Amino acid sequence: MFSQRIASLRPSPIREILSVIDRPGMVSFAGGLPASETLPHLTHSIAPTSLQYGPSEGDPELRTLVSEQLRALGLDAPTERVMILSGSQQGIDLVAKLFVDPGTPVAVESPTYLAALQVFRLYGADFTDLNWADSPGAPLAYVVPTFANPTGRCAIDGERDSLARACLDSGTTLFEDDPYRELAYGPCHRAPVTARMGGGSWVYQGSFSKTFAPGLRLGFLTASEDLFPRLVMLKQTVDLHSSTLSQQLVRNALTDPSWASRLDELASFYRTRRDSFDDALRRHLGGLAEWETPAGGLFFWLRLTKPIDTRTLLATAIDRGVAFMPGEEFFPDRPQLGTMRLNFSHADADATERGLRTLAQLLATCGL
Ligand code: PMP
Repeated sequence: MFSQRIASLRPSPIREILSVIDRPGMVSFAGGLPASETLPHLTHSIAPTSLQYGPSEGDPELRTLVSEQLRALGLDAPTERVMILSGSQQGIDLVAKLFVDPGTPVAVESPTYLAALQVFRLYGADFTDLNWADSPGAPLAYVVPTFANPTGRCAIDGERDSLARACLDSGTTLFEDDPYRELAYGPCHRAPVTARMGGGSWVYQGSFSKTFAPGLRLGFLTASEDLFPRLVMLKQTVDLHSSTLSQQLVRNALTDPSWASRLDELASFYRTRRDSFDDALRRHLGGLAEWETPAGGLFFWLRLTKPIDTRTLLATAIDRGVAFMPGEEFFPDRPQLGTMRLNFSHADADATERGLRTLAQLLATCGL
């Protein structure tokens, strides 16, 4: 009755967990939710044109604004090759549709963004391990080089340069997913990998979910000339275009003189949250786990001192009022046990304290 690809479709563990985090008293370190305090209060009047159909590539003025930002990063991204997306999640779907048939190799980091793995799996991808220095050995490589989800890692200049070269030399299309770039709390060598290729085949995408509001569902993409027109045609078949109303709201925000200071305030708000989370982690989980303090993004990646399966721990944790993301879910295959991703942006200091204390007690009962 259904298409063959449906056989590999599984419910997203994140969306399952999100359905329980609204329970009263629940502390959630699970999703990548921005802090509610950082979401904008919007009072704009809505122009009728913002309720009309629009071009598939997106609002022309918004595309120009995005193009300016991307060119400032060194990307070859003229306005004509910028497309507005309905969330950067959509970009993953479009790129997967463009490249992946059942059995197509796709090179990914291990661990990597869980919802990208889900999309590539749906189209039948065969995952290979991405090594930053070698030829990816696949027509497509997907990377999150800047404050990665789930590890928070920021790839250094040398790694970025060698991946750019390896993709160019082997004719691999490099797909760079970059939604956390603006959430930087310390030094990081961040010129995009795709900006270092100087040719070849590439896609670069970003998101307004972390800098503005995830509920508007807006992201953006730019790509090399050989790919861009095809990605636009694919977008047309999915949703014709992204919400014109959301695009108006983001366009207004980007042209508002307060935009730059909003980004600074956001980074400083999250830097404080990261620091107090790090401090609470040290007090409650020091000795039970190891981690590197992330220089940006929204996540701590923990390696427990014992390889327990954190997927089985999660149900008990939720019963006791704390949710996290089991690290196992982020591996394309051969999951590394004893890993977990903790989001530090959403819970306030009190909730963080309570949640981490509960987590530590729970880990102690597992013999850690
Ligand atoms: N890519 C990565 C690496 C992400 O972490 C996320 C969301 N957390 C997305 C893409 C999708 O974001 P959105 O669709 O909200 O732009």
